[in-house]
Amino acid sequence: MEKIQNFINGKLVDSKSERSSPVYNPATGEVIAQVPLATDAEMEQVISVAREAFPKWARQSPLRRARIMNKFRDLLEANASELATIISREHGKVHSDALGEVTRGLEVVEFACGGPHLLKGEISENIGTNIDSHSLRQPLGVVAGITPFNFPAMVPMWMFPVALACGNTFILKPSERDPSAPLFYAELMNQAGFPPGVFNIINGDKSAVDALLSHQDVKAVSFVGSTPIARYIYETGAHHGKRVQALGGAKNHMVVMPDADLDKTVSALMGAAYGSAGERCMAISVVVPVGDEIADKLRDRLVDALAKMKIGHGADPEAEMGPLVTKAAQERVLGFVDAGVAEGAELVVDGRTFKMEEKGFENGYYVGGTLFDHVTRDMSVYKEEIFGPVLAMVRAKDYAEAVKMINEHEFGNGTAIFTRDGDSARTFAHEIQVGMVGINVPIPVPMAFHSFGGWKASLFGDHHMHGPEGVRFYTKLKTITTRWPTGIKAGNDFVMPTMG
Ligand code: NAD
Repeated sequence: MEKIQNFINGKLVDSKSERSSPVYNPATGEVIAQVPLATDAEMEQVISVAREAFPKWARQSPLRRARIMNKFRDLLEANASELATIISREHGKVHSDALGEVTRGLEVVEFACGGPHLLKGEISENIGTNIDSHSLRQPLGVVAGITPFNFPAMVPMWMFPVALACGNTFILKPSERDPSAPLFYAELMNQAGFPPGVFNIINGDKSAVDALLSHQDVKAVSFVGSTPIARYIYETGAHHGKRVQALGGAKNHMVVMPDADLDKTVSALMGAAYGSAGERCMAISVVVPVGDEIADKLRDRLVDALAKMKIGHGADPEAEMGPLVTKAAQERVLGFVDAGVAEGAELVVDGRTFKMEEKGFENGYYVGGTLFDHVTRDMSVYKEEIFGPVLAMVRAKDYAEAVKMINEHEFGNGTAIFTRDGDSARTFAHEIQVGMVGINVPIPVPMAFHSFGGWKASLFGDHHMHGPEGVRFYTKLKTITTRWPTGIKAGNDFVMPTMG
């Protein structure tokens, strides 16, 4: 049985912990590895390694750091397919989807290659007579990232490339369910020339997370995961005086206006609802057609498309959707489908009946694509994040009702409107209470040079991830006011300094 290692001080090392957690291949249901759950001593060690590496890394010129980042970028691109295979094996998503994840992470590395430009400060000349002022951004120190299972390669890459480009050192605590992807690129980071201790990976559970949240040498924590844990991370980290950005769960609605292009809407919706088996924080889990006419047409088309969708294991090149990550995730999703039926939603396509026939994969954690119609706002399948291939159709009588339901929902991560009418699209973008909005774009994930983040219970803290917000999060501002001898008047001055 493979034993997952940690990556500390530039080396892959065995853990001494007696506690561990199984890692499954979700396509087959087999246990393929054991991941250690870090001890307190190991947490102390990794934090001290990152603290010691910090001053030298922070002193490197941003250009030198960027050169190393550039090499890492090239290595990552050259090894993208192998990384995608590792992701698929532990997560279950199909290889093409895993490759897409790697590409989106790579884009943040590319953004971080612009570190020298991103760290440029501001200057004002002559703010008073012969006095100048400039502001600059400096790194925080040791920063930590705690990441979810659903994007084991990309979500860490939302964090550490920007943190490192800004001169911080980084400790990653990946998900226990699929820990291997970051360990693979940690070795590429070594080859690229990142000095030992600058980037570290420690595997663990709540106790590792609590050590990061409470240790005085950890200056900031980035978190992505479910909302209850995000809230806990935010409150605990802030209590210990840290900067925290904690991204939580989602329930993303797609509004379909009567004038939408139906073919394009259906194909966008199929990928957004069922891609990655719905285990994406930007997946569309609620579709809101406006008016019964478009709702009926949409429903018929979805039923046809679901009948054609190919479910399979990650290495099957024909497969469009893979299994869920664990047996517990599969049972949870099936439980939501049962609850939807019990609460009175109409089950149009029942994914519970799907059976994987392919030999060797019969015990994988598959659930078929599921569609509910006539879902109402009081039902659990509407209110809660299911995180599976289950789409709920909530019919709205008009545009105003659609907007009201989205704005009143607990979550505010992503949303989309499909329409040909510019006026409705613009009004929607303006008044919707959600952080990331798509106009005829089903999954509006911002590019790396913009910032990613939701509103309401989908994000706790003040900063979104990567892009300009990432640079602000991982740096502190210093403002320097300068006067040279020609500007200094003789004599003492006890009045409040004013410029002029
Ligand atoms: P999770 O909250 O269970 O776990 C996330 C991380 O928190 C893991 O590293 C885990 O080890 C740690 N953790 C779990 N329980 C903990 C506890 N009690 N105390 C401290 N740490 C704990 O999330 P998950 O199931 O891995 O990921 C799926 C969730 O992540 C979904 O809710 C999804 O919407 C969300 N997500 C959100 C975004 C976003 O951008 N908003 C992106 C990806 C995933």
